[in-house]
Order: sequence, then C-alpha cells, then structure tokens
Amino acid sequence: MQLQKLISELELLAPSSYQESYDNAGLIVGSSSMKINKALICFDVTEEVLEEAKSIGANLIISHHPIIFSGLKKLNGKNYVERIVIAAIKADIALYAMHTNLDNVILGTNRILAEKLGLKNLQVLAPIKGRFRKLIIFCPVDHAENVRTAIFDAGAGHIGKYDQCSFNAKGQGSFRAGDHTKPFVGEQNKIHFEEEVRIETIFPDYLEHKIIAALKKAHPYEEVAYDIFKLENESSELGAGIIGDLETAESEVDFLQNLKEITEAEGIRYTKLRNRNIKKVALCGGSGAFLIHKAKAAHADVYITGDVKYHEFFDADGKIVIADIGHFESEQFTKELLISYINEKFPTFAVQISDRNTNPINYL
Ligand SMILES: [Zn+2]
Repeated sequence: MQLQKLISELELLAPSSYQESYDNAGLIVGSSSMKINKALICFDVTEEVLEEAKSIGANLIISHHPIIFSGLKKLNGKNYVERIVIAAIKADIALYAMHTNLDNVILGTNRILAEKLGLKNLQVLAPIKGRFRKLIIFCPVDHAENVRTAIFDAGAGHIGKYDQCSFNAKGQGSFRAGDHTKPFVGEQNKIHFEEEVRIETIFPDYLEHKIIAALKKAHPYEEVAYDIFKLENESSELGAGIIGDLETAESEVDFLQNLKEITEAEGIRYTKLRNRNIKKVALCGGSGAFLIHKAKAAHADVYITGDVKYHEFFDADGKIVIADIGHFESEQFTKELLISYINEKFPTFAVQISDRNTNPINYL
C-alpha cells in the first residue's frame, strides 16, 4: 500500500493540523509516495523499536511521540534522536507520529483511557475554539441539491453527531456578465436576476481546500459566489482532556486501586482524599497539569494525568483528588487505539504493536 493512503485514513481520525503549535506530529522520516509492506506501532521510537521493525520487515513505524521535536542542525549520531533518524533513513523505514492531534480529538488518546476506566457521557474537558468556518454559497435553485451533496461529501455540514447540516433560504441574485464571459444563465452586458438558494453550512478549517474544490466543481456558474467566515464556536469533539461519569460511584480508595490495576501503574501519586465517593472523573493523558483548574471547574471528583510537579499538587486545594499515574501509563493505550483503527480500515494490511517497553522510568 502507498503510505499516503494510510496517512489519509489516519488524518480522518486525527488531522495533523489539530496538533499543538509546539508539536511535530506527522510524517517525520520517509516519503508519502513510498510503498509500505508492514507497520509497527509503538509509543516512543527507540533504537530497540527500530531494530524490532527491521527484524519483522516493517518499513513504517507509527508512534505517539514524535522522535524529532525541535530542529536538528547536525546528523552525526551524537545522541539517540540523531542515531534513530540516521538508522531509519539508512533502513528506508518511514516514521510517522500522531501526538497532540490524537490527544485533541474526542475519539483519541483520552477516550481510550476513559473507556478502560468505564466512563460514560464523555465530553471534552477543554474544548478548542475557532477551528470552524462558516461557508455561504449562492446557487441557482435547480443546482442546490447537487452543490450541497458535493460539499457534504467533502466534509462540510458536520455538527457533533449530526451531518448534512445546512440552512437554505431562497432569494434573488443579480449579476451582469462582462465581455469574454460565458454566463450559465443570462446574456453578456445585460443585468440578470436569477432565483437562487443561499446555502449556509460549516466546516473544520483544515478541509477548506477540499470543500472549495468540490464546490467549484459542482457549481454551474463561471464565477462561484461564496463567503467564508471564521467562527468562534467551540467544538464538542475537539480539545484537551476528557470528562465522564462512572456508572456507579466508588469510594476513593477502591477507585484508585482499580486505576492502578487497569493501567498497571507501579505507583500513583495522589493528593489528600476528601472522604467522598468518586463519580465524575476528568483525565488527560501525558503531561496534563495545565488542566487541573478545568477539572476543578467541571466539578470532577478526581483528575487523572501524568507529570504533575510538587507545587501543582497543591492546586487540588481540597476540591478534587489529583492522581498522577505516570506519563507512559496514562497514554499507553494509544497503541491499541491505533491498531484497532488501522485493522478496521485496512483488514488485510500487516500491522502489529511493538513488544518493547519504551517507558524510560523505573520504580524501586
Ligand atoms: Zn505523551
């Protein structure tokens, strides 16, 4: 299979344009036109993982963390990042990462941990604003359905679990075709009035090119009249962290014990218990201390994440229990998420999860 075919499908799950500005997710080594015969899924790309890929004949490694974060100025193998990049290029192995873009979609990193914990009614904890655009199109009445279908097929009109959303109002459009035109209706140099439909819909910003291309192809006019506006709306499916409810409330001790078992955490660092049951659970895989205040504001009973610093634990302030289970432990299930997604989309493509434990942290 051509790598681009797989990337296009992975981008439907988590478009790389949804990554945070500091991130470097996407195709890091390799060409999207190369043919891939087998993929290895891992959490971090290490030299051991690269050896494993070679040994099983995989020429694509899909990781959660990107191996290159900041720019590389020299490639002489002085550190593990450079050595891995050099080895991947030499072995013709492509490296692809799905990082904060996978964290920021509701079907991504946090959802899989939430499901493992049995949470229901999942909602994004810190929704992102400003990633939607409003599209307004003016189209002759008889062609409105064609145009709508074309832009819906290209990805416009999705709001939460609804699709094909639009608003349509009839009105009269006017135009005068100039010299060297071939107007679809009317005549050159004569004002023309046409019964038109004003179609309004929305789309996520990263689809703009695709949707406008589909619009221009389906619309009968020589000059297609349309407007695009930036919207400040929040998205219910996009943002950091997740919050949900346990089916039945649990004592704090039982909950933490279950959490330890499910995530196989060697240790959980947690703040003072509040002697009340846990029902509402907020979480963010990885380094999620930046969402402690959001979890408190959402009245979560517990907030699960990794990489919490000493002073950040004080922010619990008796209003929530913060549970730090570890960075690796809180995001480890992304491997399962990716393999089941790829297996579903490409049932005959060879893909497997790395059996190397890449967690750099040990506990005594
Ligand atoms: Zn991470």
